[in-house]
Amino acid sequence: MRMRFLGTGAAEGIPSFGCTCQRCQMARKKRSHNVRQRAALLIEAAGHRILLDTPPEISSQLDQAEVFDLSAVLLSHEHFDHVGGLVEFEYLNRVLPIFAGYDVLPKLRLTPRLEERALLSGFHSHTWLHFGDLRVMPFKVIHHVPCYGFAFEETGTRVLHFSDSGPDLSDLHRHLLEGADVAIFHTPTFEPHHSHMSVESVISLVQEYSLQRAVITHINHNNLLHEELVQQVAPYGITVAYDGMTLEV
Ligand SMILES: [Zn+2]
Ligand SMILES: [Zn+2]
Ligand SMILES: [Zn+2]
Repeated sequence: MRMRFLGTGAAEGIPSFGCTCQRCQMARKKRSHNVRQRAALLIEAAGHRILLDTPPEISSQLDQAEVFDLSAVLLSHEHFDHVGGLVEFEYLNRVLPIFAGYDVLPKLRLTPRLEERALLSGFHSHTWLHFGDLRVMPFKVIHHVPCYGFAFEETGTRVLHFSDSGPDLSDLHRHLLEGADVAIFHTPTFEPHHSHMSVESVISLVQEYSLQRAVITHINHNNLLHEELVQQVAPYGITVAYDGMTLEV
């Protein structure tokens, strides 16, 4: 299974529009891993390409990654940084399957053209979606709106994506974590935050479970610089994602 991190920024992205903080200014001056477009992940497995979330920059992200076709789009939740680019697909010249939770679908705003092109499908938690030998199970995570994480499985490999999960995990989450090859967490900030996991909470999780590999993404301008983050989390075997990073498992 191949994962391509098309964007790794949190809601505001880095640089954040209109912000002149030191980290945003640094990102403007020097193109580096400190520039983070909003988060999207491409999963490639079993001959399929699944896009997870459609941030406002999605068309340029896909173009830059030279991805011109998708098997399907999965949406985690209604927040703008995750669905703001959905309308970009209205000019796609073929039918595009788009999956979202039944409680997320009514929140999506489509243009009339996209309504014609998109094949919208709802899903419930814990129901497997099949793309050949790649299977995907959505599961609820705690966030201030209905939000889904996803388990991706292919021939004994399991990748977990916790989307905008809060720090509290259920028994199901813990059970899934125990057999995961890779677990991906959204950590806008370094220090604990009420509505999101933080880098510190992922460090605790890694210590609690012997996770094979944890990846942090969806990072904001209040977090550490990329190089500083790498230094802090590398001893725990945590990978800091950056825009364009590819991971194979
Ligand atoms: Zn978000
Ligand atoms: Zn800033
Ligand atoms: Zn969110």
